[in-house]
Amino acid sequence: MSDCIFCKIVSKEIPSNAVYEDDMILAFHDLNPQAPTHVLVIPKVHFESFNDMTEEHAEVMGHMTLKIKEIANKLGIAESGYRVVCNCGDDGGQEVKHLHYHLLGGRKLQWPPG
Ligand code: AMP
Ligand code: ZN
Repeated sequence: MSDCIFCKIVSKEIPSNAVYEDDMILAFHDLNPQAPTHVLVIPKVHFESFNDMTEEHAEVMGHMTLKIKEIANKLGIAESGYRVVCNCGDDGGQEVKHLHYHLLGGRKLQWPPG
């Protein structure tokens, strides 16, 4: 999608600090980290949110979900623990309209979220 910031990160039009990439997904450090480790994990294919997910996205969503433990391991937070968050829509606090998981760790996270 031409005006999507995360599609531009996928196409390298906008640089990112990547931690993992393969043919289906990309993981990169969040510009405005909310924890000592804060990485975004995105599908390379553009769709907005959980609301827009279809059967077509089953493979990439399965792949992305399975890769999170490897990425957490690589970042050194697998043992201490982490949180995976996907904001959806206005009430969910979604700002970038390209589905992404936040992977947060490196400190004790509070619950419930605000
Ligand atoms: P959300 O509010 O769930 O849509 O999260 C969007 C996230 O994208 C925020 O945590 C931003 O800090 C992050 N973000 C926005 N632009 C960039 C960028 N160019 N590189 C890395 N992270 C970004
Ligand atoms: Zn996009």
